[in-house]
Amino acid sequence: MKKYADLFIDFDDTIYDTRGNAELALAELYEARQWGRYFDRPEDFTVPYWKTNAELWEAYSLGKIPRDYLIVERFRRPLSLGHGLHPDKAYCLEVSDEFLGLCNLKSALVPGARELLDYFSAKGYPMHICSNGFHETQQRKAEVSGTAHYFKSMILSEDAGHNKPSEAFYRYALRMTGAKPETTLMIGDNLLTDMSGARAVGIDTLYFNRWHTDDREEVTYRVDRLTDIITLFEQD
Ligand SMILES: [Mg+2]
Repeated sequence: MKKYADLFIDFDDTIYDTRGNAELALAELYEARQWGRYFDRPEDFTVPYWKTNAELWEAYSLGKIPRDYLIVERFRRPLSLGHGLHPDKAYCLEVSDEFLGLCNLKSALVPGARELLDYFSAKGYPMHICSNGFHETQQRKAEVSGTAHYFKSMILSEDAGHNKPSEAFYRYALRMTGAKPETTLMIGDNLLTDMSGARAVGIDTLYFNRWHTDDREEVTYRVDRLTDIITLFEQD
């Protein structure tokens, strides 16, 4: 494998188990809010929630919708499916705050994440988080999950003024970290935001195919498990 001087690493669902932690938080929220009064089964809420959430995050990444719209709509749409539940904006904002509060207490990492971070750390690689996540939650999640100390910097789209996958985001990240595109590797689980954006500015890409998608996207490296990255780095 080529030698890299800097590592750009996506945080959500690459290091921090955002999906697993959010599923736990959603189940707690469902209980606390007694949404069983409005839905026959929890899945009648959670399945539309995840579908809506994915669509909204993609639109947000592409700059088509603002953050405030995302945090309201991802609850308003699935909750509107409940019998007799008419969620207005204020209710959704309250629910969103409660949900983010619950999420921020969760600490599970993606399997193999700590092993990988320990490996990179022992090898002396400067690691930089590159994330579209919200300012107030990312630092907190990194601290709660005991991963903050691994990272030299945290590059967030809210500070960059541009989201991944825009080239402007990656140029900002290069400028802030002093990294060079030709000696930087971007590691992430999202083909659009992590892979195509980094590739556009000449950064090599390592796709963590966490969701086992059958894609044909062009990436520099591809792994199914985080620990496979260690094997890659150990190869000459
Ligand atoms: Mg991700």
